Amino acid sequence: MIERRPDHKHGATQIARRLVIVGGDAAGMTAAAKARRMRSANELEIVAFERGSRTSCAACGLPDLIGRLVKAPDKLVVRTPEKHRANDIDVRIRHEVTAIDTQACAVTVHDLNTSRDPTTHCADFLIATGATGITPWPCIDAKGVFQLRTLDDAARVERAIVTGARCAVVVGAGCIGPEVAEGLCWHTG
Ligand SMILES: Cc1cc2nc3c(=O)[nH]c(=O)nc-3n(C[C@H](O)[C@H](O)[C@H](O)COP(=O)(O)OP(=O)(O)OC[C@H]3O[C@@H](n4cnc5c(N)ncnc54)[C@H](O)[C@@H]3O)c2cc1C
Repeated sequence: MIERRPDHKHGATQIARRLVIVGGDAAGMTAAAKARRMRSANELEIVAFERGSRTSCAACGLPDLIGRLVKAPDKLVVRTPEKHRANDIDVRIRHEVTAIDTQACAVTVHDLNTSRDPTTHCADFLIATGATGITPWPCIDAKGVFQLRTLDDAARVERAIVTGARCAVVVGAGCIGPEVAEGLCWHTG
């Protein structure tokens, strides 16, 4: 949907196309920044919805966060929502896109703060929701079984350690698994 927006700088009404981005991490926010470099805010409104509470995280540091070599989750945030907003990118964290209507060019968004489900119209969508782990086992949601993809996942592992976990099995020994095992070893001393 194309909307008319007031142009405060020039005192006129301009037409801005709205691009909606679903997912506010590496792919989504890189695309947002690139789109902003190509089009000014008067030409293109960019709205990014991220269901988590942070944007642009360096997931490569998650094993070190578990090992406490990285002291705080925010140290892994490469660019905060505030910094994106300063670049005229309207980032809405804790907003989960629950439906996309391509006919009506609209997304339904669940606001995790207010539990409201407003609809946003747009001209273009970009879906950058990442990948999911391959978890062929029914017990994956069981207590004491974790995935490691996000800062929230790392916080859950950390909580398990703090609350008394004494033994860990890491499934997957590619690049990341051994780093996680090394991070866990920092808790053995
Ligand atoms: C532990 C770990 C270590 C890694 N180490 C490295 C490394 O050393 N080097 C390297 O190059 N890569 C590394 N990677 C991979 C790298 O992090 C990913 O390639 C990159 O994060 C992918 O970015 P993405 O934006 O495509 O997806 P993601 O980072 O998965 O982001 C997708 C975002 O979409 C959001 N989202 C999903 N669904 C919705 C929805 N319906 N509504 C709103 N938001 C939604 C999610 O909350 C998430 O923030 C590592 C990954 C992990 C997990």
